[in-house]
Amino acid sequence: MISEAKIAEIRQRADIAEIIGEYVTLRRAGANLKSVCPFHADTDPSFNVNPVRQMFHCFGCGASGDVFRFLMRIEGIDFHDALRRLADRYGVELPPPRPVRPEERGEAERARHAADRRRLILETAATFFEKQLETPQAFAARQMLEARRVDPATAALFRLGFAPDSWTALVDFMLSQRISHQELVDVGLARPGKNPSGGAYDAFRNRLMFTIADAGGRVIGFSGRTLSTSEDAGAKYINSPETADFVKGKTLFGLYQARVELSKQGEAILVEGNFDVVSMAAAGFRHVVAPLGTALTEEQVMLLRRRVERVVVAFDGDGAGRKASARAFPLLARAGLVSYIVALPQGEDPDSFVRNRGAAAMTEALAQRQGLLEHLIERAATDSDGSAQDAGHRIEALRPLLEPLKTAIEKDVAIQKISQSFRVDSGVIARQLRVGAPTVVKAVAAPTPERASKLELVERQLLGLLMDQPSLGVTALERGIVSLVRDEHLRKLALAIAARAEQLDSHVADIVAEADEKLEHPWLVARAMECLFKDKEKSLEALDDITATLRRLGYDEQIALVEVDIRAAQTSGDEQKILELFRAKAQLQKIQAGLRAFRKQESSVES
Ligand SMILES: [Zn+2]
Repeated sequence: MISEAKIAEIRQRADIAEIIGEYVTLRRAGANLKSVCPFHADTDPSFNVNPVRQMFHCFGCGASGDVFRFLMRIEGIDFHDALRRLADRYGVELPPPRPVRPEERGEAERARHAADRRRLILETAATFFEKQLETPQAFAARQMLEARRVDPATAALFRLGFAPDSWTALVDFMLSQRISHQELVDVGLARPGKNPSGGAYDAFRNRLMFTIADAGGRVIGFSGRTLSTSEDAGAKYINSPETADFVKGKTLFGLYQARVELSKQGEAILVEGNFDVVSMAAAGFRHVVAPLGTALTEEQVMLLRRRVERVVVAFDGDGAGRKASARAFPLLARAGLVSYIVALPQGEDPDSFVRNRGAAAMTEALAQRQGLLEHLIERAATDSDGSAQDAGHRIEALRPLLEPLKTAIEKDVAIQKISQSFRVDSGVIARQLRVGAPTVVKAVAAPTPERASKLELVERQLLGLLMDQPSLGVTALERGIVSLVRDEHLRKLALAIAARAEQLDSHVADIVAEADEKLEHPWLVARAMECLFKDKEKSLEALDDITATLRRLGYDEQIALVEVDIRAAQTSGDEQKILELFRAKAQLQKIQAGLRAFRKQESSVES
């Protein structure tokens, strides 16, 4: 078991803004950082991060919590994994996992163990390939990099490596690290041998190795480019097989390396191949990513949408590249991304272009970008043979590009463009394509506000006040105000907050996390995102008000309870009981009236 203190230590050391900033682009908004929410289809930035209190909260979908919660949710991992990742990253030593016999392990723990193990194997392999790149056998690999002007720093950034021209170089090394044949086969680094006695051979041989990382920089797979010129060397590129951690359609090559620049520029350059990403990076373009040899997927687009507003498509200048850019448009448009295209000359890809013509030419080409949709429309018109029927077919084929447009204005501009390019009346085009009103994106249902009694609302106010002005905690404890809180959970929270008056800000996340495990308190997290009481004087006044209200409402509640008893006694006709209860009620009302008078007096003195 990992102690509460250890968990708190990791939470303290981890920088929530840094972690979340790897997944979304955060912009400062007052004391908080804001972005579009990675957990729901958000258009306004409703996702807030409070770096002081180390918490996040989405006012759209209600997702909230601390840095652990964020990682668990976005990576789909459990608490234990989130803890280990952050401990690794921020150098917090964790006790080694207790060795458990396999038969003792629960399903979840077995899965966790397997995932830890997979990660270790892939990381070990990445380091092995990197080291091999420095050996004499890697001459051809280094030459290939030199030809592309990939300097050692860029090679190290992408963890490029070399898989030796051998059947067992990796397998032998891994065995020396106590990693078995079967384990290597399972992660796709080896293939089972034909030999019935078992054994395995290297899956990647004589290849330049690209390490594939997830958004957090962890190795999830490899892509190997052949260095051989012989026919039987296999495919030019081979990728690791998909595993639970590595799904090609959910991964973008270069995303981890590009993360800072993507946020800074608000823009991504989307290229086709791994080498395009690496060559561009070597030439100084650091906001470049590529889908892993697959057609662009919705998941990949979502990875970009959280980080940028614009995408510049720079696919190869060939037929396949053209098709790919046409397919990319609806996906990008549907995600609300503005898309552009840099049309490279026939036969060039970004890698060859930047290599042959230099970084300045690439900067120039990027500046000459054209709207992707406009480009696709123009191209359709240029490709047309001018016959009425051909034009008709080509205009019809543009329909799927117009459907994802979000506003009537966008659709109208697109139709005007088609009209100009094909010289056809725009009204005819609009009717033909039946592009009517834009389909309204269904808004995400706002979370239903929870019903809270008046008393509970005031109790919540007290908690919020104590969070904003931790020094009032001592006062609240001394004056017995905390004990006025009727709700047991809220009282415990108030005690926890008051007790940690020192450096409360950095402990808010701890307190909320502790409360959260037992009970959901979305309002508490939402409240923790903002500081409403900044002024000490005003805070003291608010504390007095809240105290008075709590007392009065407390009596209201007691009186209401006595009234229930009175009705019960009246039904059963217990005269004696009725009399007693009426006396009790009168007594309570008298105290309450006294409280009111006291408050009035006090406020008249103040004013
Ligand atoms: Zn949200």
